[in-house]
Amino acid sequence: MSRNAIVVTGASRGIGAGIAAELLRRGHHVACLSRSGGMPSASDAADWRDRVLCLSCDVSNEKDLQSAFHDSADWAGGIKGLVNNAGVHGSGPSRAFSSQEFERIMRINVNAVFVAAREVYPYLIQNDQSLIVNIGSFFARMGAKYNVAYSASKAAVEAMTRCLAAEWGSKGIGLLTVAPGYIETEMNRAFLSDESNAAKVISRTPVGRVGMVNEVARLIAALYGERIAFLTGETIVVDGGRSMSL
Ligand code: NDP
Repeated sequence: MSRNAIVVTGASRGIGAGIAAELLRRGHHVACLSRSGGMPSASDAADWRDRVLCLSCDVSNEKDLQSAFHDSADWAGGIKGLVNNAGVHGSGPSRAFSSQEFERIMRINVNAVFVAAREVYPYLIQNDQSLIVNIGSFFARMGAKYNVAYSASKAAVEAMTRCLAAEWGSKGIGLLTVAPGYIETEMNRAFLSDESNAAKVISRTPVGRVGMVNEVARLIAALYGERIAFLTGETIVVDGGRSMSL
């Protein structure tokens, strides 16, 4: 396996930490970016501590991203993948939703995803087959009330994935969106701890439960493991059937 790193943003907790741990378990070198620079926990892989680099990086800061990619490539000898996972949620009635909050969500969920892809490009192009996975959401395709900014930001992620896949396909760089359904993390713990919210989510989800971090992480690790070059630009929804069922 190539020693080159896979960079995971927002890897200090939640889905990003799960993705980093699963990639480590499967033998990859992983650079974990977050504002806190925290180490993802719960990796039971042998020798994983030698294959992880944790860096403090605010993805909304271009200079932070540039130095994080530089340091990751320096450490591992190159970069073969990027998981654009860091993201924020914000909700509220649209009639009173502030422009500042709308822009904050767009800055991290959209602008930073683009800037990270642009800044990692010179590293990825040095590999035969590299892959960017952008984390979207099933909300991108739903009319989710009180979620105008978040849903629009995740729809933009899908659009960027398609545009960059079309542009960089001939360079050996694949792009995919992975769009999770409800996964229990800090982001939605308060929402899901309300019994009526949890009951509604579960009753509308064919598999009858919320998803686990590990289910998103295993999917992404499998995409890096298989690296199917002909699969690019697409969105893979992992939501227990929530968005396809009547
Ligand atoms: P969490 O809030 O649990 O974790 C967010 C992670 O992103 C943390 O590691 C945080 O670390 C990091 N982060 C936040 N802002 C920044 C920033 N400006 N720069 C760098 N890192 C940042 O979220 P989830 O794990 O639940 O979500 C991960 C992704 O999955 C997001 O893109 C989210 O939209 C998406 N998603 C989540 C779903 C869910 O049900 N949980 C469903 C669908 C999609 P730190 O605070 O240290 O910076």
